[in-house]
Amino acid sequence: MSRVHIELPDGTRRDFPAGTTALEVARDISERLARQAVAARIDGQLTDVTAALNRDCRLEIVTLDSPAGLEIYRHSTAHLMAQAVKTLFGRDVQVTIGPAIENGFYYDFYSETHKFTPEEFDAIEAKMAELAAADLPIRREEMTRESAIELFREQGEAYKVELIEDLPNQTVSLYRQGDFVDLCRGPHLPSTGFIKAFKLTSVAGAYWRGDENRAMLQRLYATAFPDRKELKAHLQRLEEARKRDHRKLGRELDLFSFSEEAGAGLVIWHPKGALLRTILEDFERREHLKRGYDIVMGPQLLRTDLWKTSGHYDNYRENMYFTEVEGQGYGIKPMNCLSHMIIYKSQIRSYRDLPLRFFELGTVHRHEKSGVLHGLTRVRGFTQDDAHILCTPDQLDGEIKGVLQFVRDVMGIFGFAYELEISTRPAKSIGSDQDWERATNALMNALKDTGLPFEVNEGDGAFYGPKIDVKLKDALDRRWQCATIQCDFTLPERFDLSFVGADGEKHRPVMVHRVILGSIERFIGVLIEHYAGNFPLWISPVQAVVVNVTDNQAAYAQQVFNELRAAGLRVRQDLRNEKLGFKIREAQVEKIPYMLVIGDKEMEQGTVAPRHRSGKMLDAMSPADFVRFVDDECKNYH
Ligand SMILES: [Zn+2]
Ligand SMILES: [Zn+2]
Repeated sequence: MSRVHIELPDGTRRDFPAGTTALEVARDISERLARQAVAARIDGQLTDVTAALNRDCRLEIVTLDSPAGLEIYRHSTAHLMAQAVKTLFGRDVQVTIGPAIENGFYYDFYSETHKFTPEEFDAIEAKMAELAAADLPIRREEMTRESAIELFREQGEAYKVELIEDLPNQTVSLYRQGDFVDLCRGPHLPSTGFIKAFKLTSVAGAYWRGDENRAMLQRLYATAFPDRKELKAHLQRLEEARKRDHRKLGRELDLFSFSEEAGAGLVIWHPKGALLRTILEDFERREHLKRGYDIVMGPQLLRTDLWKTSGHYDNYRENMYFTEVEGQGYGIKPMNCLSHMIIYKSQIRSYRDLPLRFFELGTVHRHEKSGVLHGLTRVRGFTQDDAHILCTPDQLDGEIKGVLQFVRDVMGIFGFAYELEISTRPAKSIGSDQDWERATNALMNALKDTGLPFEVNEGDGAFYGPKIDVKLKDALDRRWQCATIQCDFTLPERFDLSFVGADGEKHRPVMVHRVILGSIERFIGVLIEHYAGNFPLWISPVQAVVVNVTDNQAAYAQQVFNELRAAGLRVRQDLRNEKLGFKIREAQVEKIPYMLVIGDKEMEQGTVAPRHRSGKMLDAMSPADFVRFVDDECKNYH
């Protein structure tokens, strides 16, 4: 019998009879490895662990604890769910596709007669558990496309037929488990018994192939983990995320709303939300001024001709809103760059004037499809903490370092950890090799300077320059895009920006677009969820509420309130004739940091008794001392 030579990841080589499966090799290494094996990589190619080895190759056993293994596990669970649905609903439901996604998978079904509801999830999960317990082998089959089309046509699976018809291949692969068969590239788990822990989470509509002119499908979302413990932990995280959902808390805390009458994706800030936003904006203005930025402001509308010069009209028109006044076309700005360049060009610039750092809390509008809008995190109108740095090529290094230091300072204040990524030159790009090299080096040097690890996305940059992305990690360990630092070689060209160098000649400045928090709307959405609505004292729109115990202290409580408000505290009063416990509960629901309780004793002594929202009581103090106490706690942010 002929033999094949196998090279394992640790470099060892072994001989096996041709036709040995990857699983048998795993078993030969250790029983434990065989138990955990869910797939194999043969010469880098993912394949079923039951695949036979017929040639010399490099072999890696893929286990559940790897990202690839987990994806195969989740995708196999999608097949299991489709099998359960087909077993329960038969020809009333047609299968389409079911990929793995983060933390789980989905499967899209088509049905004219059946509408899935969350009440059915238990029954589907029970059927899945039954099919998993049966430990059905999952077998790969290959057949000609004609036979496969015939097979799915007989089963009434029109979507599978369409998928195969669009494939260029002469043969296609199918995976069969029990009497369920699905068109699939694979690989898959060896059997359904590997699947241990899953849960259906939601149902939503989705167009076939994402095309709104095609059929509306029903997408069942589910989560899946290798064991029950991990699933449980994940479900707890989901539950916590639901409790912290900024759309829910935004309503409960009366921060903002959306109005279909006003327009989808357009935020309406209520008094407390508007105040929260103002506090953040004031903070941003102070921090930018401290770092040598100039505050500028441009108009919301700029003439369409200018958007043609900038290239936005050609490349970004579908995302923009346009209007016409007295025969003149205008575009509502989707970005803030243009006014900043007009300011730059308003006078002759010398190298001695640089760097210039123009900062604007710039409100922009970008058309997003209604399907992707989501609370504050995906909107059509938002405000960026946007700045454009114009500098000499020599200054670029220092400027990028300064921005990353800025990011570090700000993220530290909010208690966010973050991750860094750099995206480098793509295949199609403008700008000289020298430009790209200098800019990429500046970004790399600044990244190295942080001492933090960073990821390199090779070739993933915009065609007009490399960039750094900063993703913050919130309290639930979710990632959110915040800061970006983008070098730009095109706008300085298109707008013919220049400065007079030490040599008396004209030179092109380097341009950097950068945001720190990104969209203020999204950042507030993230903050609400990060703090679960318990804002730190310095950004709380209401820092304290004055509460009297009985009507007897109403006049004194009013006087305290007036004093605190005049001292600049963000304070409210609750002098209603209600039980103290009731008022405290209400203040708790509003997550107000301090309740200032006033009874007879406080009135006599001219003090207040502060009670923190955690329940902790502070010693009674005079109103003036409470002002000092608050100032002290907030002073690091001013
Ligand atoms: Zn599959
Ligand atoms: Zn810009």
